Amino acid sequence: MMPKINAERLLGDLYALRKIGEYKTGVHRPSLSPEDVQSRLWLADKLTAAGLTAEIDGIANVFGRDRSPGRKLLLGSHIETQPHAGWLDGAMGVIFGLEAARTLGGGIDVAAWFDEEGWFGGFPGSRSFCGLVSEAEMDIMRRRGDELALRAALAQAGWSGRPRVQADPSRYLGYLEAHIEQGAELELCGDRIGIVTAIVGSYRFRIVFEGEQNHAGTTRMARRKDAGVALVRLATAISDRFPAIGNERTVWTTGQIALDPGSPSIVPGRAEMVFQFRDTDPAVLARLDQELEALVAEVRHGPCKVSLIRTGTTAPAAMDAGFQDALEAAATAHAPGKFQRMPSGAGHDAQILAGIMPSGMLFVPSIRGISHHYDEDTRDEDLVLGCQVFVDAAATLLAG
Ligand SMILES: [Zn+2]
Repeated sequence: MMPKINAERLLGDLYALRKIGEYKTGVHRPSLSPEDVQSRLWLADKLTAAGLTAEIDGIANVFGRDRSPGRKLLLGSHIETQPHAGWLDGAMGVIFGLEAARTLGGGIDVAAWFDEEGWFGGFPGSRSFCGLVSEAEMDIMRRRGDELALRAALAQAGWSGRPRVQADPSRYLGYLEAHIEQGAELELCGDRIGIVTAIVGSYRFRIVFEGEQNHAGTTRMARRKDAGVALVRLATAISDRFPAIGNERTVWTTGQIALDPGSPSIVPGRAEMVFQFRDTDPAVLARLDQELEALVAEVRHGPCKVSLIRTGTTAPAAMDAGFQDALEAAATAHAPGKFQRMPSGAGHDAQILAGIMPSGMLFVPSIRGISHHYDEDTRDEDLVLGCQVFVDAAATLLAG
């Protein structure tokens, strides 16, 4: 018999955390805002009450550590939010970890990673834990919006000068994270549990087109070097050629287009697009990358100069096969025929942790697939079921 979670206690804690920085039906808790600081202190108290040793480290990661001997399972997610966003994104996974620690009574460490939502940078909390954030990077990180320095924000919270906790992989069997799906696949399929196979990697670009700015009435078509036309040619070629290279879950997005000067009677002399693609397969990502280079080379044969600038890359992260199997066994017990294995199209701290220890992720359905919005929600019965599956899987992994 697997230990049973306390559903009332679980939902009570989720509702209590929702109150801190409440905004309409959601939450507004930017990293290291007063509300975020308050929520971290609230969590540390909860971890202490659960019998764990609580600590907030020098980058505002919150840990609850089990003092008993033996290898541990690390459970976590994040508790800051996007602006005026949902109450469950991140928070759910942390409270699932807390509930697992209380239900299992040993073998569980809990972590709330700092700033998964990227107010200061890309995954600074989990990367710091994995030894991937230098003191120099700590010096330069600033909060999007108000440009507050990370060091100053930590000092305001009273947490500057503390050591940053570093991972000891020999302590851990691995890392398990629960999260809302943030998409509509589970709901569309009538499934209640998602078992993540891999987290997508992404390649991100800025593509600049340079032509010749001129009068829209006097410049003959044959003489034009229209940067806007060059941009549209490339965007169209991408839509035509990428489907044959990717698989059914490959996604690509032109998220921003700007024409310069952007005026009705001027032939644009410069144009810029921000472009990205994502997939879980490194080979697919490499093929898309090659194809993009080839398409850019084709547009270069026209009258405009084209520069392809790489602005960032994240590698896809495969989830551990044994962790997936443990989640599947638990899902089979509690939601037979109502689960699926699926990739994560969104980034998560688990992709960072996967670099140093076996990692796994569980998804619960998001109502209408809405996330990063205050309407984000999940049915209470799905929260309770998801937590029970999560705790069963954790128990199985701890039992080895
Ligand atoms: Zn999240």
